[in-house]
Amino acid sequence: MKTCTVCGETKQVAEFYVKNGKIMASCKMCDRARVQLSQAKQRKRMGEEAYLAHRAEIVRISRLDPDVHDRTVLYSKARGRALELLRKLYPETFEKLLAEERTNVPQP
Ligand SMILES: [Zn+2]
Repeated sequence: MKTCTVCGETKQVAEFYVKNGKIMASCKMCDRARVQLSQAKQRKRMGEEAYLAHRAEIVRISRLDPDVHDRTVLYSKARGRALELLRKLYPETFEKLLAEERTNVPQP
């Protein structure tokens, strides 16, 4: 049994994901909620078209290149290609994102 640091519930070890041989501090339910929340935030920040293009690229690249296990590499590749795609398909959204990126002030 293990206690989740997020919800505080004590659960079976099977209710936790294992990362690099270590059991994660938060349970699967909390981890999924965290991922969904960050995706929702990202979606809102990037805008619908950009977000979907980005997700589509992640799926496409991970299919083409199954050796990309490093998520950081995968995500940055996907982001670059998604932005290229976005510039062609939705130039207005791209310009808007670009302008936002430039004026982006880190949140406190
Ligand atoms: Zn939890």
